[in-house]
Amino acid sequence: MVELHLHLTGAMAPRTCYELYKEQGLPLPAEKFEDFEKLLFVDPNAKDLGEVLKVFDYICRPLQRLDALKRIAYEEVLALNAQHLEYAEIRFAPAKSCEQGLTQDQVMDAVLEGIGKGLTECPGIKIGVLLCLMRGMSEEANQKTLDIALKRKGTIVCGLDLAGDEGRYGLAPYAHFFDVARENKIPFTIHAGEVDRPENLRLAMELGASRLGHATCMIRYPDLMEQARDKRIMVECCLTSNFGTKGIPSLAEHPIRKFYDYGIPVCLNTDDPTLFMTSIKREKDMAKELFRFSDQELSIMGHEAYGYRFLR
Ligand SMILES: [Zn+2]
Repeated sequence: MVELHLHLTGAMAPRTCYELYKEQGLPLPAEKFEDFEKLLFVDPNAKDLGEVLKVFDYICRPLQRLDALKRIAYEEVLALNAQHLEYAEIRFAPAKSCEQGLTQDQVMDAVLEGIGKGLTECPGIKIGVLLCLMRGMSEEANQKTLDIALKRKGTIVCGLDLAGDEGRYGLAPYAHFFDVARENKIPFTIHAGEVDRPENLRLAMELGASRLGHATCMIRYPDLMEQARDKRIMVECCLTSNFGTKGIPSLAEHPIRKFYDYGIPVCLNTDDPTLFMTSIKREKDMAKELFRFSDQELSIMGHEAYGYRFLR
């Protein structure tokens, strides 16, 4: 199995998050673990992406320390290995852990150290790391993230992404970063079309994204569908997440089957398994039950996803 769209922080085990709050003496938003855990799960009544992203306020609070970053990166490799993933791309935004004095380079080193330790214990899995530029972050912070991606090109840091609240920020203000990435042959994906903003999909494809995060709204724009198909751009589908953020009105209305039948490459992902209480196995089971994908189709999808990996 392969997973290409997975956020490190959105995959942190609730128990780990709880322990980090306690270890660091942070005020717990709920004393009992059972209550605390619920704060990390997306409210099924959340009205939009912006509301869902508020959960990251809780998640990122204890991630301002290097030992915590090391730990979650290490644990994530073990968790992926336990699910029999052969290849996974873990993405994260180093700038989100720089609120209390850490530098992005320090954050990066800590995460890579944690991943490295995990890989030593789990030699069967391959891991690529994508760095997320953030919508709503300062120009300087995003520039720094891009600089790190440039500097570490050729290592397991193998690509870029743009994450954050697409409903508020769009893509155009960040396009210049991806011009630089393209010129330097750093592959990238972009969270686009997770909300109904077709202009972000159009621009992402113009910029040279080889994959698109979510892209659910594309189903309403035939010219964009055609472009994605003709350019062979892969859509990273995240069924549970797309419903959780209200990108689609119901799970049954997810466009994955229509994309696939039209000839657009698609793959299955969890996005944030903790927030959405899902796993790659669960996403696959849903694809089978709701959209009648056969085991053979899912196996081909997995192979194709591996071909779209950024780690080379
Ligand atoms: Zn995502």
